[in-house]
Amino acid sequence: MKYSDFIVNSSFHSEFLAVEFFIKKQLKGLQCPQCKKLGKKIYHQKTRPRKAYCNICSNEFSIFKETIFEDFRTDIRKLLYSVLVFDETIKAVNLRKEINVTHKTALRIIRILSAENIFKIKFFKEQIKESIDNVNISLETIK
Ligand SMILES: [Zn+2]
Repeated sequence: MKYSDFIVNSSFHSEFLAVEFFIKKQLKGLQCPQCKKLGKKIYHQKTRPRKAYCNICSNEFSIFKETIFEDFRTDIRKLLYSVLVFDETIKAVNLRKEINVTHKTALRIIRILSAENIFKIKFFKEQIKESIDNVNISLETIK
């Protein structure tokens, strides 16, 4: 599956929606790291999709803190796509071309995903697949 097909077929038509997906599936909701509150008073910021705001203690925080995406400034959709197509045979040169990042970033994505627990990655991959209309589209394209 090409990155462009991924964007069209998935429900991630904006980075904000992709972050919403991440919050729901991976974080199971937002929690303020300062006052530890959960729920409705914690807002995901529309204009800055990587940030959340706690209306209880006025704390603004990064949604990706302490997640595998913590150190990336890359569009979250490119990172989700990387998880989807990731396996031990993936080449940085192909990933770089497909998602249009620097070679260094592609290497870093692969390094971080390789270091992650394989079952966690598999589970994450399944969650992403569920959000795509046509999961039968081959993932082989970028190998
Ligand atoms: Zn708070």
